[in-house]
Amino acid sequence: MGQEEVQKKKTKEKEPDITFFHPDLLEVPQDGSLPYLKGQKCKKCGQIDFKTTMCINCWSEEFETIPLSRRGKVYSFSDIYIGQPGLATPYIFAYVDLPENLRIFVQLEGDVNTYKCDEEVELTLGPIRMNNDNLPIISYKFKKISA
Ligand SMILES: [Zn+2]
Repeated sequence: MGQEEVQKKKTKEKEPDITFFHPDLLEVPQDGSLPYLKGQKCKKCGQIDFKTTMCINCWSEEFETIPLSRRGKVYSFSDIYIGQPGLATPYIFAYVDLPENLRIFVQLEGDVNTYKCDEEVELTLGPIRMNNDNLPIISYKFKKISA
């Protein structure tokens, strides 16, 4: 094992065991500006998508990464009382429509029985579940817009 590899290993051990889920989909700027989701814009036809490796319009696999809108509208949602392991109940899953004509599946932050369809929501960061060490995994969620 070379010196460089030893160094890498040491650095890795120091990292806190709190993970950003899907860093390829979520950008959290280091300068403190607001986080945003990353979309893939097809270089051939301009179709915008989220979480894709192939354009649904022209099958191209060449994309440029673009920032998606931080606000969207709740299309539909579900209050969930019987959860998956690692997820404290109750919690809320929803489909949120973004202005880019994208419908994305997200967790909503807040209390059950407080959301309604067509409600405007905005991107936020928060724990979406616990990892095996019972530490929170931080990722994107949507929440009510604070007036
Ligand atoms: Zn395309």
